Amino acid sequence: MKKQFKVFAWDFHGTLEQGVEVGFWHILKAIAKKRGIAENFKLSEVRKLYGVTVANYLRHFFPESNEAEIREVMKDVATIQNQSHLKKYVRAAPGAIEVLGRIRAAGHKNIVLSNSHPDHIKPLIKIVGMAELIDEVYAIDRHYTHKKFDPVVEKTKVLKRIKKQDQLGRSQLIAIGDRASDINAGIAAGTVTYQFLRRGFPIDETDADYKIYHLSEILREI
Ligand SMILES: [Mg+2]
Repeated sequence: MKKQFKVFAWDFHGTLEQGVEVGFWHILKAIAKKRGIAENFKLSEVRKLYGVTVANYLRHFFPESNEAEIREVMKDVATIQNQSHLKKYVRAAPGAIEVLGRIRAAGHKNIVLSNSHPDHIKPLIKIVGMAELIDEVYAIDRHYTHKKFDPVVEKTKVLKRIKKQDQLGRSQLIAIGDRASDINAGIAAGTVTYQFLRRGFPIDETDADYKIYHLSEILREI
């Protein structure tokens, strides 16, 4: 039987990268200092909230701030979280480069499906050394929007479109992510789903086909 062509749809934050939340923790501390707010922010607390919007992070850590102040602080975050700041903290997840490379070498495709703004995610993919390993990036901005946004609905739409476009059967589209939204979108779109479980981070309950602790476990698909 001819080997099936497959598309691997990766979540980025917390799946292919690690460390972005450490940088964000330092940003929160810098903002508190600038505003003269006493703080004892813990990295574990930042990690517990992993995946919420920037605005919700700020509401949590600066509960005394009103909405106008939160918007002001969001501008500060955008200014501090520039390329050189990200470069300091963000790394490829363990094994990610090798796994992406082996998928490509086997003739398959890697795409990134992210809730981040394209202006944020594309440079990050370069920073972690994956630019040559990712075929396409589908970025859905959520973190800097104030509008209601359902990441499952948005990610499902993209996955369904790819499935139709490339005429893929269920076993040919593999969705990989660390959060329930990644998995639920994969299930809704009729893909194979892998949940990446990270130690030290909250683990969502999901009905993922597979739950893995190391990205290399994906290689059973190739
Ligand atoms: Mg993620």
